[in-house]
Amino acid sequence: MERLQKVIAQAGIASRRKAEELILEGKVKVNGKVVTELGIKVGRQDEVEVLGVPIEKEEPVYFLLYKPTGVISAVSDDKGRKVVTDFFPEIKQRIFPIGRLDYDTSGLLLLTNDGEFANALMHPKYEVEKVYVAKVKGVLTGEKIRMLQRGVMLEDGKTAPARVKLISGDRRKEIAVVEIAIHEGRNRQVRRMFEAVGCKVVKLKRERYAFLGLTSLRPGEARALSPHEVKQLR
Ligand code: URA
Repeated sequence: MERLQKVIAQAGIASRRKAEELILEGKVKVNGKVVTELGIKVGRQDEVEVLGVPIEKEEPVYFLLYKPTGVISAVSDDKGRKVVTDFFPEIKQRIFPIGRLDYDTSGLLLLTNDGEFANALMHPKYEVEKVYVAKVKGVLTGEKIRMLQRGVMLEDGKTAPARVKLISGDRRKEIAVVEIAIHEGRNRQVRRMFEAVGCKVVKLKRERYAFLGLTSLRPGEARALSPHEVKQLR
C-alpha cells in the first residue's frame, strides 16, 4: 500500500505537493468516492481518479539480475557510475532494486516496479533467506564460525542466527571461502559480521534469494521472473 499522493505523483500526473493540493481540493476519487484526507493508503487493486480521469497503472514487472561488481544498486547515481537499471534499456516501466548489494558485491538482485511487493520482501518480519559466498582474509577458526552462527554484536545490534559453512580454507595463506545464509538485510551486514570476528571479506557474491538462484546467468545478464515464481515469493 502506498500513500495516495505518492501514487498520483508516481503516475506522473503531478508533483507530490500538487497531488496533495488536488486531494485537499476534492479532485481525487478512490473507488468512486471523493477523498480529501492526505493520510490514506491505496493498493494496486484500488481505482484512483484525478480530475475525473483514471490513473493509468503501470503493468507490474519482475526481474532477476546477476549484478556484476562495480555497479550501484540504485536507479541513478550523481557521480555518473553504472547503476543496476542500466542493464534494462528496453524496459519502459520504472523499475528499482529490491534492497541493495554493495558496489563491490556481485550476484542475485531482484528489480521491480511493484512497490508493495518490494516492501513485503524487505519487511524484517518476512525477510527471506539470502545465501552469500564470501572469500575472507584472516584466521577463521571453528570458534569464529560458531560465533557467526550464533550471532555477533554489531553497531546496530546482535545478528540473528545464521547458517555458516566453510567451503575451503588455507590456514597458511589465511584465506577462506565461506557460505553464509542470513535472513536480515542490514547495510553491509556480511562484511560487518566477518569484521566482528577479525576477518576481512575480499570478495562477496549473493548466490541465492529465497528459492531463486543465478542458474545459467552470467554477470550483467537478467531474466524476467515467471508468474509462478512471483506468486511463490508473495
Ligand atoms: N552483505 C554485505 O556486506 N554486502 C552486501 O552487498 C550484501 C550483504
